[in-house]
Amino acid sequence: MGSISKEYNVGTDGRQLHDRCPNSTDTSAMDLPRKDYHHRIFVNRSLCMEKIKCYGFDMDYTLAMYRSPDYEELGFELLLDRLVSIGYPHEILEYKYDPSFPTRGLVFDTLYGNLLKVDSNGNVLVCTHGFRVLKGVEVWCKYPNKFIQRDDTKRYHVLNTLFNLSETYLYACLVDFFTDCPRYVNYDTGYRHGNLFMSFKSMFQDVRDAMDYTHDSGVLKEKTLKDLNKYVLRDEGIPLLLNRLREVGKVFLATNSDYKYTNAIMSFLFDDGIEDKYDPKKKTWRSYFDLIVVDTRKPLFFAEGTVLRQVNTDNGKLRIGTYTGRHQHCAVYSGGSSDIVCDLLGVKGKDILYVGDHIFGDILKSKKRQGWRTFLVVPELAKELNTWTEKSDLFNELKGLDIFLGQLHEHMDSESEQPNISSIQKQIQKITHEMDMCYGKMGSLFRSGSRQTLFSSQLMRYADLYAASFLNLLYYPLSYVFRALPVLMPHESILDHVNVDGADASKVLGQHLKYLKREHIEDDWLQLVNTARLSLQDSPAIKPEPDRKPPSIMLY
Ligand SMILES: [Mg+2]
Repeated sequence: MGSISKEYNVGTDGRQLHDRCPNSTDTSAMDLPRKDYHHRIFVNRSLCMEKIKCYGFDMDYTLAMYRSPDYEELGFELLLDRLVSIGYPHEILEYKYDPSFPTRGLVFDTLYGNLLKVDSNGNVLVCTHGFRVLKGVEVWCKYPNKFIQRDDTKRYHVLNTLFNLSETYLYACLVDFFTDCPRYVNYDTGYRHGNLFMSFKSMFQDVRDAMDYTHDSGVLKEKTLKDLNKYVLRDEGIPLLLNRLREVGKVFLATNSDYKYTNAIMSFLFDDGIEDKYDPKKKTWRSYFDLIVVDTRKPLFFAEGTVLRQVNTDNGKLRIGTYTGRHQHCAVYSGGSSDIVCDLLGVKGKDILYVGDHIFGDILKSKKRQGWRTFLVVPELAKELNTWTEKSDLFNELKGLDIFLGQLHEHMDSESEQPNISSIQKQIQKITHEMDMCYGKMGSLFRSGSRQTLFSSQLMRYADLYAASFLNLLYYPLSYVFRALPVLMPHESILDHVNVDGADASKVLGQHLKYLKREHIEDDWLQLVNTARLSLQDSPAIKPEPDRKPPSIMLY
């Protein structure tokens, strides 16, 4: 995650303090305090908004923000009902959805039934069996080197989307239930009941089938549409932003949902059918888009795609045959591909900024296959930012430990005796766990202690921009230049390291030690502190540099 204070200064100037009011001419906005960080858009790669000629949007969890945890709770209950209907014990209905447990981006191991939080290389950061967190030794036993082959998609299933949150929690509940239920005998790879063996693999398949059932049968959609106010957030900023975007470029919608559901959700979001006494010519939701494509079947949409058909908006039925005509404004199409969208709108990949919530289906594929500019919506960011700012002391403690370890080893060579750093490692584990628990039972979406998750690495690699909501675009001029901070490679940051002199480094060490004044510091830890101080006293003096940042050497 980027530095809030640093990133804020990137960009043009006070113009970023933009009023959401449509006709505001209030220049005092220039004097407003810094933008609320919840309204910020974060930048991985620089992007000049003036170059964007076309804005594309996904619908579910992007334009249509589902209310959390109500929506996940609904999904969870429907999954339980379905499992019971195919023969799972009625007792599982007693589980209630707990939003503090699941984190997006976890991996389900279909061999051992564990939920894993991993980094981009497949190193295991956290591992649970049901609701029990596995200890380091247990993790090593199941996953040699605390590592998984993430490419083994037959065994490991990544729970990437917000729709997967209820599914993630369900795996934990099922494992918890069968592990403790006296009728079942526990095995490494599943449970035995009489002469029946239920493997974690078959449990996974049952849950997957139940997921498909709740989506394909229309039961989830039906329940959602019955109580839209409970499950979907409506924001007056949506038509406002789309109006502004249409003044500077083209706008399209590309959703995997069908027309009937899309029409119902979008009509709700745009207040269609509700008379506006101030605007008798109130526009329908379709008029905000240059092109509307439903049933897109992303990620297939970003590759070969499917047949493009026109939708009859009167009855929602598809017209027979592939559509080959010119693009018609307000017309709705089904299927197609990203290439067809570009042809119909007369734009190229780099002209498009595509906004979606699915790291794989929306962002990774549109970036890798088509070179589109990408904006990832991460609704969890609102809560993550709160915790990140409130608990910054914990991260500073971790940084202090990292730096201390760096200082400790800095003046050693191949002859030096390896100091015992086990107490520091224990301290790092303790703070990491403490940090994780501030976010939820499976920790932050983005990190575990100092280490970033698989989700984080994909976000940084494939999303040019990201924010808690696409509506944050309202707070920036549409000519804005989003600039990413230059990131130095470790060898390029050498200047920071060579400019450390003994006295200055002692000061740095002193600063970080103040974070480490915790209650239970062991003797060998105090010894290490003294060793580091002595080694710094012996270090050769190099000219101090006033603006130098402390070195950051990661040794574990
Ligand atoms: Mg979506």
